Amino acid sequence: MAAVAVPRGWAARPSSPPNVAARRAFAWPFRAPLTPDPVLGNPRGRTRHAAPEAVRSLAVQRASRHGLSLTAPSRTVGGVDPCVEQADVVVVGAGPAGSAAAVALARAGRQPLLLDRAAFPRDKPCGDLIGARALAWARRLGVDELDLAPYPRLAGAVLTADDGRLDLAPMTHLGRVLLRRSDARVIPRATFDHALVRAAERVGAEVRQATVREVGPWLPGVGREVLGQGPEGAVRLRARAVVVAGGYGCRVAADVAPSPRGDGEPARGIAIRGYFAGVDAAPDRIVFCLDAWVLPGYGWVFPLPDGRANVGVGTLVPGDGTEREHLRELYARFTTDPASPAAAWLERATALGPPRAWPLDLGPRRRRLVADGLLVAGEAGAFVGPLTGAGIAFALESGARAGTTVAAALAAGGAEAATIAPYARAIRRRFDPWLRAEAAAQRRLSDPSRLRAFLDRVRPLPPTAALGARLLLHLG
Ligand SMILES: Cc1cc2nc3c(=O)[nH]c(=O)nc-3n(C[C@H](O)[C@H](O)[C@H](O)COP(=O)(O)OP(=O)(O)OC[C@H]3O[C@@H](n4cnc5c(N)ncnc54)[C@H](O)[C@@H]3O)c2cc1C
Repeated sequence: MAAVAVPRGWAARPSSPPNVAARRAFAWPFRAPLTPDPVLGNPRGRTRHAAPEAVRSLAVQRASRHGLSLTAPSRTVGGVDPCVEQADVVVVGAGPAGSAAAVALARAGRQPLLLDRAAFPRDKPCGDLIGARALAWARRLGVDELDLAPYPRLAGAVLTADDGRLDLAPMTHLGRVLLRRSDARVIPRATFDHALVRAAERVGAEVRQATVREVGPWLPGVGREVLGQGPEGAVRLRARAVVVAGGYGCRVAADVAPSPRGDGEPARGIAIRGYFAGVDAAPDRIVFCLDAWVLPGYGWVFPLPDGRANVGVGTLVPGDGTEREHLRELYARFTTDPASPAAAWLERATALGPPRAWPLDLGPRRRRLVADGLLVAGEAGAFVGPLTGAGIAFALESGARAGTTVAAALAAGGAEAATIAPYARAIRRRFDPWLRAEAAAQRRLSDPSRLRAFLDRVRPLPPTAALGARLLLHLG
């Protein structure tokens, strides 16, 4: 049996190409306090940690099963010699942002390790509207067309408000031509995100289930340590760079952790959605309900195949701790009140399980996006439109750009902050104007009289249907 010499500060490293099974053998226990989420409390629950000695002996046994021997520990933690698994680039979170980063990294010849606390396919509370920008990115990232095929292309939208409805579906040939390139669909996130994860695996990313507790400080010339917990025990990795793509409020790295809301920044959002069967809605129209009682948010009915639909309500967080109760009241009224704008579609519908709520980090926010060996992508960077709550397109684009940037930096020598700073500049240049425009529109249109005046003004204009549909299908 071969003994692998382990240099000080590193764990046994299998030779290239990376032997995944052998790398798994070097998981090591780690304890870190959980940071409670201000909105969700602690949704992740507590994890039990195995005793360090027991896990070390397991690691030694596994190493020996893979023909390796654990000879020299790197350094001491709590009096025990830990083993640190080496990774090239670790991506925290396998949502759209993380998968996009992993695809970009793998395509650039890196070996991304994509960690997610959930096993895929996993649900993510969402409206499931994969807008035209998001779908174009997903295709660019190699998502399988077979995964998209069951979900029809959207052909328009319907807006309802207290004084009527506005049908935004192009009626003329010119309008239909305008919409031809706007391929947007409603695809459950359990399916869409899994398709992206598989796209990342196909190009060589390794996907592993683990909850990351902490990304350690920068070790010059080395990288960062990533500490967490997987189903088989603790995980301790050392990576040359880390992409943080853990979604809402991801606080795993102290030097890029989200700060409290700053002056002039938008309130946080919160939304709830449930699935219904037997919904009487056009299969190719998304419905937005903007009645005064639901402002400053909106309700939606987004159709899925076979008469199913994703139905939800989103609003801003008032900041007084009543958000969950308020949201549930809005949802109950939206889905069950016969006077609700959704009643026409839901009259004969039945709920498929309980609804799920989740917060949204609406942008733009002053947030640090890069530090030495670290990039933040997706909703962890608050890239979510404050008018629509749409964040998937931003997540995919930022993830892909993060992956490309860090791969180029590593190829050129290292991922120090100065080398990866172009990522932050490009993201700010591309996203901030859009997010600011949405924030301005959100402020104006959350006033019912202004919303009514706006709808009255655009309703009679001939291009409203085609342009309105195109705009709505491109918001995500
Ligand atoms: C109710 C609701 C409706 C929405 N509707 C839409 C919509 O219709 N269209 C749209 O474009 N956007 C919508 N959004 C916004 C959209 O869901 C997010 O912007 C998008 O999911 C962000 O993608 P992401 O990859 O950054 O994060 P996520 O999709 O949140 O993925 C993050 C991943 O990281 C994992 N993770 C988190 N922490 C850790 C950790 N410590 N260790 C390991 N893994 C971790 C999570 O398990 C998750 O898989 C909606 C949001 C909500 C709440």
